[in-house]
Amino acid sequence: MSEQAEEALETQALDRYECRACGYVYEPQKGDDKYDIPAGTAFAELPINWKCPVCTAKKVAFANIGPAGTASGFKENLGYGLGVNKLTPAQKNILIFGALALGFLFFISLYGLQ
Ligand SMILES: [Zn+2]
Repeated sequence: MSEQAEEALETQALDRYECRACGYVYEPQKGDDKYDIPAGTAFAELPINWKCPVCTAKKVAFANIGPAGTASGFKENLGYGLGVNKLTPAQKNILIFGALALGFLFFISLYGLQ
């Protein structure tokens, strides 16, 4: 179960952020040469004084557009991302437990049919 939780965190850490002022996209896999940000740095881990390397907009001007390779339309993704971020670890555990319990019940019901 803890592996699933870590996986979810890693996925979130790779979310890209788009500058709403100029359209520059910060990609965690690439980092940012201009500010000596090493590759693999999540947007949330950027220094508070980090600014858009193109137009120097502040971090608050950026919108979460999700991990690379997903469909765009960042408004939906933004709402989705915020919703997940608001979940406490306990709530995430409940979700994971619930999924496991459902899978278990399904398994048992198959047994009952035989
Ligand atoms: Zn910008």
